[in-house]
Amino acid sequence: MTHHVPPHQPKTPGANALLAGKAKRLLIANVWRTAAEGGAFATHDPASGALLAYLAEGTASDADIAVAAARDALVDPAWRDMKPSARGRLLWKIADLIEAHADELAELETLDQGKSWATSRMAEIPASAEQFRYYAGFANKILGQTIPTSIGYHPPGKKLFAYTTREPVGVVAAITPWNSPLLMAAMKLAPALCAGCTVVLKPAEETSLTALRLGELLVEAGLPAGVVNIVTGFGSTVGAHLAAHPDVDKVAFTGSTEVGRMIVGAAQGNLKKLTLELGGKSPAIVMPDADLQLALPGVARGIFANSGQVCVAGSRAYVHSSIHDAFVEKLALEAGKLRLGHGLDPETDLGPLVSSAQAARVASYVDEGKSSGAVIAAGGERLGIDSAFFAPTVVTAVHPEMRMMREEIFGPVIAVTPFDEPEEALVLANDTKFGLAASVWTQDLSAAHRLAAGVRAGTVWINCHSYFSPELPKGGHRESGWGYENGPQGLENYLETKAVCAVI
Ligand code: NAP
Ligand code: MG
Repeated sequence: MTHHVPPHQPKTPGANALLAGKAKRLLIANVWRTAAEGGAFATHDPASGALLAYLAEGTASDADIAVAAARDALVDPAWRDMKPSARGRLLWKIADLIEAHADELAELETLDQGKSWATSRMAEIPASAEQFRYYAGFANKILGQTIPTSIGYHPPGKKLFAYTTREPVGVVAAITPWNSPLLMAAMKLAPALCAGCTVVLKPAEETSLTALRLGELLVEAGLPAGVVNIVTGFGSTVGAHLAAHPDVDKVAFTGSTEVGRMIVGAAQGNLKKLTLELGGKSPAIVMPDADLQLALPGVARGIFANSGQVCVAGSRAYVHSSIHDAFVEKLALEAGKLRLGHGLDPETDLGPLVSSAQAARVASYVDEGKSSGAVIAAGGERLGIDSAFFAPTVVTAVHPEMRMMREEIFGPVIAVTPFDEPEEALVLANDTKFGLAASVWTQDLSAAHRLAAGVRAGTVWINCHSYFSPELPKGGHRESGWGYENGPQGLENYLETKAVCAVI
């Protein structure tokens, strides 16, 4: 089976202008600059393989200039002394601009990453705007406390007055992955700006286009110079340099557990703060009484949305043995119904993976599983040599020790395993080093909450999967990460507490 998709000419003026314009440079102190060493790298449409643009290849010296701009901006009165309500209005304005430019941002995202137009336009671009709107409301509600202390050794006749203030953590390096590019950037920028931090953003090399368009919109919104700087380039150069940089106070990273570990190592020099949103191997537990009208499309969407390139993708299903075979059969039918094509084709349900290299990686997991006895119930193959398309895949007869059961595949592949008792389902679900998310599917209220309590994961969905909202804190337990995004918890990660204790 092969899948040929012709190149797509961008339709929105904004996408065309970006691909032709200066924003393929680096944004430093609100000026679009060429890379210090003059390098460039190509970004492609993974569906057709067409070249989209050459982007500036930032290197360590660009990262240094960007960090210096961010340090200056931190104490620039235009930013430091901006009234909280004005900071809130600025965040709201950024949200308005994202919404006003949603069509072109969605077009760029789909062209660059491959995901379907519906995923970009209906879900991820609006969700990016909502990040800014959610944290806009927090900007004038960041509060300290007054604290009655029990200290007894102050001079007689004097009193003590103690309070806390909240301060921005400082210069943040935001390093983002390729699966949901604009949203991952927004999830860092919105709370960072709300807290008064300044940022150097290093987007994923494969999907930097929407970050660059966002950069233009941030300037248009009136963000003071240096508050957000964008350095495109490679993780091994720019990313690693930022992670080790002595003038970076915090790294906000989303990506693989492997790179997360490298960032932990690099951060040792100045013990910078870290938030790490890492990989997952999220289970879906389907009980015998599950409402299959919900569970079948829900489990299917939980793995196949964005072609499985979702950190919380439900890649391991544990289905009660009484319904296992029928469930597999119906899930395979759901998988077979999905239409693959260019993300910008309105008929398309699933686009390609981000690159043909990623499709090859997915194929290696599936091939290895097959050779160890796994059975393919649907899909199981890449759609052509060098293709970035991978057929939605359902696998059975897997063993917990198979690599496809232990490592994150980041592709449209779900492995289904039967169980008999809920306790057994929990043992199987928790048999992983990850702890990002899980879903449980049952109509029994008590069973649902008992399973939710028993799963080791930062998010548990009941009768749904991959439901996100800025109000819902999201973070990984175990090797899925440190810290949280979204909610008040997401803001905490960008704030320091200062305790002030005075004899008065
Ligand atoms: P990745 O390879 O870890 O890369 C993520 C980012 O880190 C990219 O910008 C990358 O740059 C950069 N990077 C690479 N090496 C680096 C280094 N040594 N130092 C500093 N930065 C470095 O992840 P990915 O393949 O882009 O994205 C997929 C992964 O993201 C999956 O594991 C997925 O689970 C995870 N993810 C997690 C969440 C969550 O919330 N937990 C959400 C989405 C995705 P280059 O682009 O140049 O390689
Ligand atoms: Mg691309």
